[in-house]
Order: sequence, then C-alpha cells, then structure tokens
Amino acid sequence: MNKKRIILPILLTLMMVTLLLSKSYFSVQTSIETIKLKENVGKVNKSHLEQIKIIETDLNKLTSDEFMGRLTGTMGNEKAGKYLMKRFEKIGIKPFDGSNYYHEFNQEVYFPDRSEHYMKVIFEDGSEKICEYGKDYIDQIRLSKVDLNCQLVLDQKELDNRTTGEIAIVVDDDSINKNMFRSNTKAILRKRKDFFGVPQIAHKGAAYIQIDDELYDEIFEKNAKEVIIKSRYKTGDSIVKNVIGRIPGKKKEKAFIISAHFDHVGWDGDIMFPGAIDNGSGTVAILNIAEQLVNGKELENDTYICGFNGEEFGLFGSKAFANHIKGKYSEIIVINIDCVGKINGKRLGIHGDSPKNDKLKEDIKGILDKKSIDNFTGSIPNSDHSSFSYDGMYSISLIQENLFNEGESIHTPNDSSELVDYEYLKEICDVVVDFIYKFEDESYK
Ligand SMILES: [Zn+2]
Repeated sequence: MNKKRIILPILLTLMMVTLLLSKSYFSVQTSIETIKLKENVGKVNKSHLEQIKIIETDLNKLTSDEFMGRLTGTMGNEKAGKYLMKRFEKIGIKPFDGSNYYHEFNQEVYFPDRSEHYMKVIFEDGSEKICEYGKDYIDQIRLSKVDLNCQLVLDQKELDNRTTGEIAIVVDDDSINKNMFRSNTKAILRKRKDFFGVPQIAHKGAAYIQIDDELYDEIFEKNAKEVIIKSRYKTGDSIVKNVIGRIPGKKKEKAFIISAHFDHVGWDGDIMFPGAIDNGSGTVAILNIAEQLVNGKELENDTYICGFNGEEFGLFGSKAFANHIKGKYSEIIVINIDCVGKINGKRLGIHGDSPKNDKLKEDIKGILDKKSIDNFTGSIPNSDHSSFSYDGMYSISLIQENLFNEGESIHTPNDSSELVDYEYLKEICDVVVDFIYKFEDESYK
C-alpha cells in the first residue's frame, strides 16, 4: 500500500477530531466563564489575595514619607489627593460632577515649615535648658504668636498661692484638671509618653505644650522655676480639595455616599504622623468598596465615593460636600469609615448622632452580626457622618472602639501600617458592599 494514501486519511481524521475537540473545548470554556461571572455579581474580578495586596499597597503608599502625614494645606496632602484621584480613574469611578474629581473649599491652614519655636527652662540652681522642638516638646494648640516669660508652678498647693502674675503649669495626665485654666495661667506643659498630633490653630488663649518624660522629670528633679516660650505660626486661607467620584445608578432619586477622610495631622519638628489607622484604613477601604461596586451588577442609586479633606481641623471637607449635595436627591445615605481594621482591635462601632439614623445603624449591624464581626451601636459625633445628619440625609460612621485611650497609637508617630489587619479591613469593605446591594430600595424616611 502507498504510504501517502494511508497517511492522508489519517491526517484528515486527526484534523476533524482536533476541530471538534477545540469547538467543544471553547463551549465548555464559555459556560465556565458564564458561571464565574454569575458568581461574581458585586465582586471584583480579582482574587481575594490580589485585593488584599492592593489594599496593602495603597496603605503603604498613603503612610509613606512621601505624603508626610497628609496634613491639609501641605504638599503631602496635595500628593495624597492626587494619588486618590489616580486610583479613582484606574478603578473606573466617574468624576462626581461629570468633569471633576476635586471638590474645592476654603479653609484656614498653617504652614509647619514656616513656624518658629523657642523654649528655655530655668532651674532653681540657675542652670538653663534650651529645649528642642520636636524632641523635648511640641505644641498641642498652635497659637499664631506666643511671647511668654512665666513662673513655673509644679503642684496644686503652689498653684493656689499664685493668684497673680503669669504662670505656666506642669502637669501629667493624672494631675491635670480644669481648675488649672485660670486667667493668669498662660501656659500648660503636659507630659506625654508619645507625642499626640493635633492640627489645632488658635489666635488667642493659653499656650498648650506637650513635653516628653525626660524633660518632665528634669523639671521636677531640678525644681524648675521659670520658662520662656516664644513661637510663631503662619496661618492662612487655602483652597483645599476633597476627592470625589460617582458610580452612576439606574435611578437618580436616591444616593449613597461612601466616605473616608484621607487627611491626617502631618508632621511636627522631626516627628512624622503616618496615620495608618487614622484614616489610611478608611481611605483604602473606600477604594476596595468602589472597585467591588464598579465591577458588580449595575447599581440602582447614584453612589458617591468621597475622600474627604480637612477632617482633622474640624470636619471641613465633609461639611463643604454636604452643603453641595443637600437637596439634590430625595434621600441621601452616608456610610463613613474612620479608623478601622486594627490588629487585635476592640469592637467595631456603628455611630450616628441622632435617633433618625437608628434604622440605618440596625441594618448595618444585621450584616455585621451575620458575618460574626464583633460590633455595637453608639453615637460618637466627632467624625464626618455628623456633617450629613440633616435635611433628608442619613449618616453613620464605622469607628473602632476606644482607639483614643491610653496606650493607643492614634495621632502618635506609632500609627503605622503594621497596626493594620488587612483581612479584617477587607471584611469591613465587604459588609459595606453587601449593605449597598441589600438595601438599595430601602427608604429611611
Ligand atoms: Zn484623626
């Protein structure tokens, strides 16, 4: 037999079989993909591990030296806002008003690099110590101008005897009390183990200074008598930016707002406050939530993803956006995330500041309970949800319990990314996504 005659039919048969096999392979593949897509309604087409990795990368970026603690009015804050905007673009969130991600407002800020500091302590034996700003002490309240030469008062008895003359009082957490703030009290020097960053600006009042343990001990050991304090802060109005995107919904009557403030307390002297839990955690959470929503089934309601600015100075960014959005929808529901996901952290608090938010709190509580996430409902007012609780707006904040207690790291240089439990943080993101889909048609009126 001719070899060619045998090979040709075999070849033809092989080709037919290959073609048939590949066809059925494609159809099997297609049906697998269809099943996969169905399972992924409301989920990002990325594995759990990939999503955790992204959350971690975002948090490491936001807490890096490049952003210098994200203090409103500084370059680090500007860079963080830009980073957030780029992430919104990449995820596929639309600009909030059709063309802009930046929502601008005015706020008084200070310029840490243009501040001046001087403090000298004079001891009983006549010796002096010139204190180093950012090492021995930092300001808690930033007074635009301080020029003081005061007698130091070290205990309550001495304080009672000094009713005249300008005085500065040295205290620790146990000895401080409100009776110390009298008209002749011109400065409070308070001992802190870890310096606590607060971007508080004032133009009058007593100087409020944090001193470290060593200086505190030296003041008592050498019986300090006098302190000279001089400082200057340059303050000014600045245009500050919220970063806001929108995921368009089918209907336009109602809106959800998923928010977190991305600003923090910056730096002071050589100290940097990274702000991982406060509020890097909330900021990276809204990015994961947004990515899940953008890739999930189409939403019924417009959903805003908001990175608020100016929170640490007094909720300025959320107030400005509440003012912008009020009355634009029949109902607005705000879920704000501020300080969550701490390793071995205490319970997750669901906070709303008026009884009108009780049903909203209970609905979120239901989802947390179902996922066995330890939680409670409360009413802390000092986060961005407070800016929205009026005029047809319903709002809560998710905040982990007792983070400002003694020994906690919030607002100290220790609030770094090592404190974050990424699995736990991701669970909180999933709770918010579940809430959005489950309560799309719910009314809180
Ligand atoms: Zn804070």
